[in-house]
Amino acid sequence: MSSKNTKYRKGKNQKKKVGKFVFRFSLSVFRMIIIICLTISFALAGLAGGAVFAYIKTAEKLTPDKLTLEGFTSYVYDCNGEMVIPLQGSKNRDMVDLKDIPENLKNAFIAIEDRRFYEHPGIDLRRIASAITSGGAHGGSTITQQVIKNITRRYERSVERKVQEWWIALHLERNLSKDQILELYLNIVFLAQNCYGVQSAAKTYFDKDVSELTLAECAILAGITQNPAYYDPFTTNGRENIKKRQEVILGVMKELGYITEEEYQQAKNEKLQYADYNRRSADVVTNQSYFVDQVVIDVMNDLMDAGYTRDEAYDTIYNGGIKIYTTLDPKIQQAMDEVFLNEEYFTKVNTKTSMPPQAAMVIIDPTNGHVKALYGGAGEKIGSPLNRASSSQVKRQPGSTFKPLVVYGPAINERKITAATVIDDAPVYLNPNNRNERYPRNYDWSYSGLTTARYALTKSFNVVAGRIWDEYLTPDIALDYLKKSGIDRADERYLSVALGGPREGINPLQLAAAYIPFANKGLYCKPITYTKVLDMNGNVLLENKPQYTIVYDEATAYIITDILKDVMTSGTGTGARFSGGMPQAGKTGTTSNNYDKWFVGYTPYYVAATWYGYDQNTSIQSAEQGRANLIWRDVMAKVHEDLEIKQFEEPPGIVKKTICTKSGKLASELCSQDPRGSTIRTEMFIAGTEPKDECDTHVKVKVCEAHTDEYGRPYLASLYCPPSSTSEKVFVKRRVPITNPNDFAAVGDKIYECPTEYCPEHDLYAPYNRNNFQYDDEDGNENNNWDSNEGYYEYLEQEDRNSSYFRDNYSNTNNSKDNNRDDRNNRDNTRDDGNNSSGHMDNRNSGRDDEKKDRKRR
Ligand SMILES: [Zn+2]
Ligand SMILES: [Zn+2]
Repeated sequence: MSSKNTKYRKGKNQKKKVGKFVFRFSLSVFRMIIIICLTISFALAGLAGGAVFAYIKTAEKLTPDKLTLEGFTSYVYDCNGEMVIPLQGSKNRDMVDLKDIPENLKNAFIAIEDRRFYEHPGIDLRRIASAITSGGAHGGSTITQQVIKNITRRYERSVERKVQEWWIALHLERNLSKDQILELYLNIVFLAQNCYGVQSAAKTYFDKDVSELTLAECAILAGITQNPAYYDPFTTNGRENIKKRQEVILGVMKELGYITEEEYQQAKNEKLQYADYNRRSADVVTNQSYFVDQVVIDVMNDLMDAGYTRDEAYDTIYNGGIKIYTTLDPKIQQAMDEVFLNEEYFTKVNTKTSMPPQAAMVIIDPTNGHVKALYGGAGEKIGSPLNRASSSQVKRQPGSTFKPLVVYGPAINERKITAATVIDDAPVYLNPNNRNERYPRNYDWSYSGLTTARYALTKSFNVVAGRIWDEYLTPDIALDYLKKSGIDRADERYLSVALGGPREGINPLQLAAAYIPFANKGLYCKPITYTKVLDMNGNVLLENKPQYTIVYDEATAYIITDILKDVMTSGTGTGARFSGGMPQAGKTGTTSNNYDKWFVGYTPYYVAATWYGYDQNTSIQSAEQGRANLIWRDVMAKVHEDLEIKQFEEPPGIVKKTICTKSGKLASELCSQDPRGSTIRTEMFIAGTEPKDECDTHVKVKVCEAHTDEYGRPYLASLYCPPSSTSEKVFVKRRVPITNPNDFAAVGDKIYECPTEYCPEHDLYAPYNRNNFQYDDEDGNENNNWDSNEGYYEYLEQEDRNSSYFRDNYSNTNNSKDNNRDDRNNRDNTRDDGNNSSGHMDNRNSGRDDEKKDRKRR
């Protein structure tokens, strides 16, 4: 083969050196005319004639050593510039001399590809003119130009490239004969099924030497080149398509006088005998990593975006001698490989399936979007398995990992909520198709009652996420944030998206990338696997620079990060936390029926997402449900082993306040007396969103503890309750009461809710009032007999000097300074006798624990 390559280096005018002709400016009159024509054409097309000369000057030389048909090895480099793997094509090529190629085959190609081949000087002005007048500078490639394109592997569809190609074509024609050019062409041309040249195509499709092809078969081969994928004879559609095209070609051959009517008819009717598809030379299975697979796909897509056809892009990557500089970090990839190749993470414990468990992971540098490592399946990669980490075919439901992306992030950034906003985790009915159904439900079907956004995200309460989506956001706003984070679900404007159940799923690469804004000061950066691609001459073919989108304010990203840190210390993600003191933030995700387990999280260095599940949906069982967390933990621990500990940087514009977690307002003295323990904590806010008012949810009331109501609460002390059974206690009083008794019975904090009924036991008229209460209560809880019985009121005032406190708190009107002063006095008093009731409240707590256990059992 190599001796064949060298023969093309000898032109018909051997004295002339091919390499020099580009810069020869001893232009013949003829060439002058051509250039003038080109210049005029482009002037007409709106281009300055000077540009043409500039293009010609920068055209690279087509030196003799480039007139070779060998493919060039391409190389992939890691982020340190070290070579990872050479990419070598497996070209199926058999060289053949022109004398062994049937006349019919040559004529068929000439007829359909370049009918004036023997007349034009390398470019065909008539075709160029018609291409230009029909609106584009593309098209109109002569056989000579196609040879140049194949040898130089410059496939860009730019005007500059086209002009350079014309220029080189003119020179090639002066140094090679038409037959030499045709011979080159017929040995280069791509004919689908990895066939390069007519000989390999003849063997692949008809299992015969090219010299034995019939006229009908020649026309078939000539037809493939225009669109090899469309006319591939080894696909069902392709075989039909190529037959039609064969007849067109035979028609042109007849029209041009290459064949007679008889030959035409005979060839058209000839029954084609194709070779056995299974005997074709198969592509060599490449043993490259999941990462390199993804890089190749990315480079391929970007080349196609630049105008290359799929075949040209493939050829460029595997035979074009290009250099691909990737973002791969070998140290990080190795850490990941170690875990994914360790069978202990993937033992088969699921009794419901015979399938092996699968997993995938992606690690990205959030500051520039560089994908540092990825792994696409459990265990060793053999052959070409599905890349579960980054393949666009992978669409898994994201589960609760979506909540920060479509609920909490957007709502905080829009100033609709803060981390301290209190939402009632109580039954809601948000299923538009069934307003009687409690939907959404928390994972364990329990309701925790009043909770902050922070706590709800930490514990991944679906009810709260659903309520924020429903009451504070609009789908348009939420989905716009998601889109800016790289996931476009603009047409999925329904609640289940908020809960991580979009119709169209995502892959780990998308999920990790969507968390980049949280890890990168609010800025999204498109993930990339390579930074640049150089062609074989060292010119930049593709360049991939970070592309940023502002998604969140820096303060929002910082607050979300702070909440997601809680997830890993006290929330659902503790199993993913690695030791060593590196700050970590993250979120778990579980999908319907336990089909998928996710963990996505980040440190000040890297953002990473892990998925665990089965290729065909299978419920993950308890013995394996912590594995997504575990894989994340162990890979990230290795990755951060030698990295200096650094903190997430607090941006300007963060305000910290001491708040009450039951009201979201500034903490009052009462908040510290919540029977569950103090509800005071320090919370961070985007400046301007911090609360200004003091907690009015915590109230102190006088109760009679002689007995309890149906929810286990004491009653409000009535006029007649003996002092020995009454005491003052701190409760919460929902600003929006839960009116449905069944719903109220379902919330976990019901015993802490301020009672609304007066003690019936010590009431003289108890039997009468009890009945009344039962009926009155339907209206709500605000106005039982309090205002309607002046006697009570007066009595309390006499009985208790601090009754103003009692009343004001109870009716939520403690806004005036005077009242607040009274509050403080009163608080001091009540703190002293707080012990009186502590035993009682402990009982309550133990009752709550029982309830918790009950819930767990459910
Ligand atoms: Zn409070
Ligand atoms: Zn009583």
